[in-house]
Amino acid sequence: MRFTQLLIPTTKETPNDATLASHIYLIRGGFIQSVGGSGLYNFLPLGKKVLDKVEKVVKEELDRAGCQEVSLSFVTPSSLWEESGRFEKYGKELLRFKDRKDNDFVLGPTHEEMMVNLVRQTVKSYKQLPLNLYQINLKFRDEIRPRFGLMRGREFLMKDGYSFHISEEDMKREFDLMEETYKKIFTRLGLEFRVVEADSGAIGGSGSKEFMVLADSGEDTIVVCDSCEYGANIEAAVRQPKICDVAAPEAKFAKFNTPNVKTIEALSEFFKVDPYYLVKTVAKRALYDEGESKIVLFALRGSDELQEVKACNAVDANDLVDVSEEELAEVGLIAGFMGPTTVPEGITVVYDNELKDAASMICGANEKDYHLVGNNFVGIEANFDDLVAVQEGDVCTCCGGSLRYTKGIEAGHIFQLGTRYSEPLGCVFLDENGKSVPMVMGTYGIGVSRLLAAIIEQNHDDNGCIWTKESAPFDLYILVSNIKDEEQLALGEKLYEAMKAKGVDVIIDDRKDRFGAKMKDCELLGIPHAVVIGKNLADGKVEFLTRKEMLKEEVPAEDILSVLE
Ligand code: ATP
Ligand code: MG
Ligand code: MG
Ligand code: MG
Repeated sequence: MRFTQLLIPTTKETPNDATLASHIYLIRGGFIQSVGGSGLYNFLPLGKKVLDKVEKVVKEELDRAGCQEVSLSFVTPSSLWEESGRFEKYGKELLRFKDRKDNDFVLGPTHEEMMVNLVRQTVKSYKQLPLNLYQINLKFRDEIRPRFGLMRGREFLMKDGYSFHISEEDMKREFDLMEETYKKIFTRLGLEFRVVEADSGAIGGSGSKEFMVLADSGEDTIVVCDSCEYGANIEAAVRQPKICDVAAPEAKFAKFNTPNVKTIEALSEFFKVDPYYLVKTVAKRALYDEGESKIVLFALRGSDELQEVKACNAVDANDLVDVSEEELAEVGLIAGFMGPTTVPEGITVVYDNELKDAASMICGANEKDYHLVGNNFVGIEANFDDLVAVQEGDVCTCCGGSLRYTKGIEAGHIFQLGTRYSEPLGCVFLDENGKSVPMVMGTYGIGVSRLLAAIIEQNHDDNGCIWTKESAPFDLYILVSNIKDEEQLALGEKLYEAMKAKGVDVIIDDRKDRFGAKMKDCELLGIPHAVVIGKNLADGKVEFLTRKEMLKEEVPAEDILSVLE
């Protein structure tokens, strides 16, 4: 393709709200365009091209694994969500609306209900199973804090797959196959990643694994072993005593028990850990060590997590100073969730059952009560025995090597669902004996648009993007320094045609602009290789550039074709 014919609106301006490299470079490189700064993006030609390349890899590997592609309606009747019981539970991330006839709908944030509905109408017999159906389609989640460009959008592209089986055993076989398939996808995309044990969150189900792209900017904290493949999200790792040992030296717990630090921020400063880690991990472990019989969850307003689990009553971190030392001493230790920022206006206060649900999701406890401390603070008491049971329920598959914390971007998540959806929605089949049985399900997601951000988070430098081989919008960039120079232009055109004929995805920079500006764009766009045809052509030389290492190699012009072979 020709630069002059493409819409590639590169810019030197860094968007005001952008802090991450991927956000900055995807906008500056003209890959995407923000729509009103609210987690909505348009994909411009180059961005769409990258999306297509990523999708191609995803599709090829899924098709090879026997999955079938479908496309489901984005708008979903609320009645399906009522059948599964998620309509009320899902919280504010679920965008609900009515049509002109007053019918209720949601914009699908995930499509378990919709896919189960498809299958329950079309699959009747064990002979039609197993099935693995997927789509690559839009999702909408009204995220409380959309940010970081494509990393956390409100509308985003997801590959979501759902498998249906006659038995738990067969579902587990498929789950393992999907794990292997996802590994192939992320490897082909050139990503450094870890597969980690995960919490199943709002989707539900039992076993689940996340695919974490390793990057300092990742929003998730994961624990990984240096000697084996073991990894776990701290949300799941918290339940594993072994990891907690590494996570938090015992010496600090005693001090934690004496609440001389007034706010969560101060506590996290004190422990030198991030607040999520503090409230989710340290406190639970502390309870474990001290043999306390209660866990108290402090729900802090403004937290993403709380929005997700629909528990919203809480205090601003700073309001904790209003809780007396006696009160803190009485409840002993603190566990819970918090948002790192101050409380936004207009958060609804929700009491009782919803908060209890949150507690059960957070710590897996069964019997709990809520209670009020002060005016605007709610805690939940949960039975410690239940918490221990959860800890024992999780196996630590690690070799025993040394564990360390690192940051990850959640690029994929696979779940063993069981009959969580097939039972309430009546998705059944007739088994060999003619008995009606609910199908056993798995579900498998990949954040396709988030992957673009993840690739750049892992592959960039001060000059811009560095696309990996299979994600790059083009394989080769031919830069003609001065298009008025007939000899340069002729060689550029000749190479361009030759490469096209070979099936190389090539772009020729045939703009009138100055060499410096074109070179800057070439680097910003991050195409893996470039041929720069410039002044040296007078001496019969061109430059061959490898973007990643910024390697510049002078090559005799007549040899360039063979170099590109
Ligand atoms: P997160 O923890 O980042 O909020 P999630 O656990 O809620 O993600 P899942 O329900 O597991 O997400 O969805 C499957 C995949 O969709 C995720 O692994 C992620 O790659 C992607 N995804 C989820 N939310 C977003 C978002 N707001 N923007 C872009 N991609 C997303
Ligand atoms: Mg989420
Ligand atoms: Mg997650
Ligand atoms: Mg997830």
